[in-house]
Formats: sequence, structure tokens, C-alpha cells
Amino acid sequence: MTDVPEESRPVAFVTGASRGIGRAIAIELARIGYDIAGNATSYDPANHDSGLGEVEERVNETGASFLAAPGDISCIDDQQQMLNAVLGRFGRIDLLINNAGVAPLQRRDMLEMPPESFDRVIGVNARGTFFLTQLVARRMIEQANENPDAHPSIIFISSISANVSSPTRAEYCMSKAAISQAAHLFADRLAEFGINVYEVRPGIIRTDMTAVVEDKYDRLIDEGLIPQNRWGQPEDVARAVVALARGDFPYSTGMIIEVSGGMNIRRL
Ligand code: NAP
Repeated sequence: MTDVPEESRPVAFVTGASRGIGRAIAIELARIGYDIAGNATSYDPANHDSGLGEVEERVNETGASFLAAPGDISCIDDQQQMLNAVLGRFGRIDLLINNAGVAPLQRRDMLEMPPESFDRVIGVNARGTFFLTQLVARRMIEQANENPDAHPSIIFISSISANVSSPTRAEYCMSKAAISQAAHLFADRLAEFGINVYEVRPGIIRTDMTAVVEDKYDRLIDEGLIPQNRWGQPEDVARAVVALARGDFPYSTGMIIEVSGGMNIRRL
């Protein structure tokens, strides 16, 4: 079903689309009428069972086109190559989903956190996301100037960690606070061009990223951590993204949507 009101199909560039939240976002956006450029660190065109190859199949089943745009979002050269590939294939980019991200390889007390872990997590999540957005935003401005009826948009997938303290993964929390502020800043800077920017803030979502702490989160959920009393699924995040991507929040740039089962509610 094509819900997005455009003459030709709009194009969404989804980073970290090979699995987890990004995978779900890519598939749900395809269902509402977007063609998809999906990024991850690698792509094996012969593999249709996992990674970008599997997502390609799911996207194509909806009738949408799919371009694999592998690359490291923390590498400035890769960013330009990926954008060139997207424009070479589709000639436009209407929606950027900044989803790719990494957790620390090892959770450790912030008093023991090595600089290498700080650099890696900040390098991908904050620096990589910022400069990719800067690059794509420049292109979106050209597009908006060429066609004032076009309203490209950008969605940052941050985290409740943007303002929740986890001292055993301080670098991740700081990176997500940076992404949250980046969304805020880009919303302000790009408003004059009709480019809306939103932040989607997931809570505890069942993916590879949280598999390593599954038992801990199972226990916390059993103990009542989450008002809605369950794990989030990647599709919960994708549905929030789809609601924004349909263009139904035109006068709400800079808005934050939390997808956390109510973890935003302070309780006594
Ligand atoms: P995931 O299952 O670990 O998937 C991460 C995705 O990001 C993969 O597609 C991975 O590609 C890609 N990626 C990682 N580093 C990259 C890089 N340098 N360049 C390009 N792609 C890269 O994670 P997830 O749980 O779906 O998380 C997705 C986003 O949501 C992240 O930003 C995460 O911080 C955020 N988030 C997750 C949760 C949660 O509970 N799961 C909660 C809040 C926020 P490869 O397959 O090539 O590695």
C-alpha cells in the first residue's frame, strides 16, 4: 500500500539497516511507499538469509526498490561514497534515518573506561552520525530549493540513554546525549528550508545489541521497571518512525518521541 503522497516514490536512506531496529524501519518504510537505501558495515549479495541481502528481499516483496549502501558511517570517505550511490541510483533522498550505532564492546565502570572505547562509541554514534547528517542535509537543501513542495526530513534514533545514567556504559550515554542535541540543532538549522528533524528515543528493545544483557533486563522487567511491562520490539520503533515519515507532524520539528513502554514516567 502506498501511503506517501508523492508522484514518484520518495527515497529513505536507513543506516544500520541490516538487523534489529534499522531492519524493521527499512521494511516498514517500504510498506508505506518509500524506496530504500539500506546501509550496514558490509553487504554480501549472495546471502539472502541475513544482513542487507535478507532486508533487500523483504523490501522487494513490498514492491519497493532497494539499494545496498554498505560503508562505515564513522568514515568520512564512506559517507560521500554512500550518498553518491544513493543519488546515482535514485537521484534523490527524501528521508534520512540515523539509526546505525554501537554499544561498548565491554560494559565497565566509567572509572575504568579506556579512551579507545570512548573514541569508538563516540566516533560512530556521535561524530559519524553528525557528519553524515551534515552531508545529507546539504543535499536536502538543494532538493528543497529545486522543489519547494518537497519536504525532506531526518529522524535520529537516539535512546533513553540520552538522559538516563548507566555508569557501566558512560560512553554510550554520552554519545546518545550528543545525538539528541544534534537532532535539536539540525531541527533549528534546517527549519527555514522546510526540512523537519525528529528524534525517536527507544527504551529497551529486543535486538542483538541487548542480547548480551537479556537476563538482566528480563529480571528488571519482571521487577516492574517498565510500566507497559514488556520488552520493546524493533517494530515498535519502526511504527513511530513511520508515523513521522508519513508527514503527519508538519508543525512539530525538533519533537522527541519516546518508545519505551512508559519509562519516561517518573514514579514514586
Ligand atoms: P544492532 O542490532 O546492534 O544493529 C546495529 C546496526 O548498526 C547494524 O545494522 C550494524 O551493521 C549497524 N552499524 C553499526 N556500526 C556501524 C557503522 N560504523 N557503520 C554502519 N553501520 C553500522 O542494534 P539495534 O539494537 O538495532 O540499535 C539500532 C539503534 O538503536 C542504535 O543506534 C542503538 O544505539 C539504538 N538503540 C537501541 C536500543 C535497544 O534496546 N536495542 C535502545 C535504544 C537505542 P552491521 O550488521 O554491519 O554490524
